[in-house]
Amino acid sequence: MFSYEEIKQIRNQFPILNQFPILKKKENNSIYFDNAATTQKPVQVINAIKKYYCNFNSNVNRSFHVLDQFTNNYLELSRNNIKYFINAKSREEIIFTSGTTESINLIAFCISKVIKKSYDIIISHSEHHSNIIPWQVLSQNHNANLKVIPVNSEGELNIRVFNKLMTKKTKLISISHVTNTFGIINPIKKLIKTAHKYNSLVLIDGSQAISHLTIDVQNLDCDFYVFSIHKMYGPSGIGILYGKKKVLDKFTPYQCGGGMIEKVTLKKTIFSGLPFKLESGTPNIAGIIGTNKALNFIVNYSIIKIKNYETKLLKYALKILSNINGIKIYYKNSKLTKILSFNIENIHSFDLGKLLNNYGIAFRTGTHCAQPIMDYLKLNGTIRISFAIYNTIEEIDIFYKYLIKCLYYLR
Ligand code: PLP
Repeated sequence: MFSYEEIKQIRNQFPILNQFPILKKKENNSIYFDNAATTQKPVQVINAIKKYYCNFNSNVNRSFHVLDQFTNNYLELSRNNIKYFINAKSREEIIFTSGTTESINLIAFCISKVIKKSYDIIISHSEHHSNIIPWQVLSQNHNANLKVIPVNSEGELNIRVFNKLMTKKTKLISISHVTNTFGIINPIKKLIKTAHKYNSLVLIDGSQAISHLTIDVQNLDCDFYVFSIHKMYGPSGIGILYGKKKVLDKFTPYQCGGGMIEKVTLKKTIFSGLPFKLESGTPNIAGIIGTNKALNFIVNYSIIKIKNYETKLLKYALKILSNINGIKIYYKNSKLTKILSFNIENIHSFDLGKLLNNYGIAFRTGTHCAQPIMDYLKLNGTIRISFAIYNTIEEIDIFYKYLIKCLYYLR
């Protein structure tokens, strides 16, 4: 577990935490509890991006000058480090995208070539829109069936129904590792094992898991694992698509252009192999450089220590929030992550969010890009607080104090 001194040192690495000029309105608070939306960035990440533009700016894999070689080496170093971080078998299995959303859309595009009428694609009721809409559109365009694993009133998957949904017609299951609404850890290993018995591919949306859990894609045996770097202390506009080589090898390019070819004539193009055939055009070089620094940051502090610390924060928040009259905390009975969602009887989450924002406390309110699960549970939204390595028990105490104050005004 991190000591008080360590957390202080960690906080000092995040320039925004010492200023938050926008948040500091009244009472001088500047508390950021919206880490499931995006995390703040340490100075190492910011400086690496600045250094790239000031000292090394060039394209990659295009020229033989020293700047290009330097950038290219750095990019491949980031790819290798991602490979180690999630324990992929080879660097060819790591594709740079613009984020989770693009990773899922890329897979949907490539899979669409083999999806036929009456094939099944399975998602859960509890997915982020990014993991619903691409499958909805794909199913509609190909007359395939989009089947949905139901959840119980706590938002947990109904595995019994999942087992019944699986048939030989199932071609893909796409499911989140940790849900962004309630922070539920889905039993993905079990789902993957069952899916493979039916020869179905499995895509895991790791957006909310990647900065909190140890990910071992070989052990999970998933076919795809996708995530966004901005949720793990890195820059926005960059994401990862991990795919098993034998599956990605069969993909035809999703976008075509420079950087992904062996030979082009006006009649025909021979594409590069992996990973480049799925990375056309100039990549987000600064983002990839920032990615490497974000990874170093996490590895340096240890993902297990980060998880334990965030869980400690969550347990504490659960304990003190449970005292509030009329509070309904969603999904507090199982394994805890870093996400806590709740509502207060007769108070709209937007009202509370707006009022608390006046006191310099930022968190997410609303339907969290997951309207189907909110509709199913008849919720017009929730208040979601989510933690990161730099949050503290003291911040939770301040949050609680101002929450009580706001409830006094709103009730
Ligand atoms: N999936 C989940 C579970 C998420 O939480 C998010 C973002 O909040 C996404 C997908 C989409 O990520 P991005 O907008 O970075 O592509």
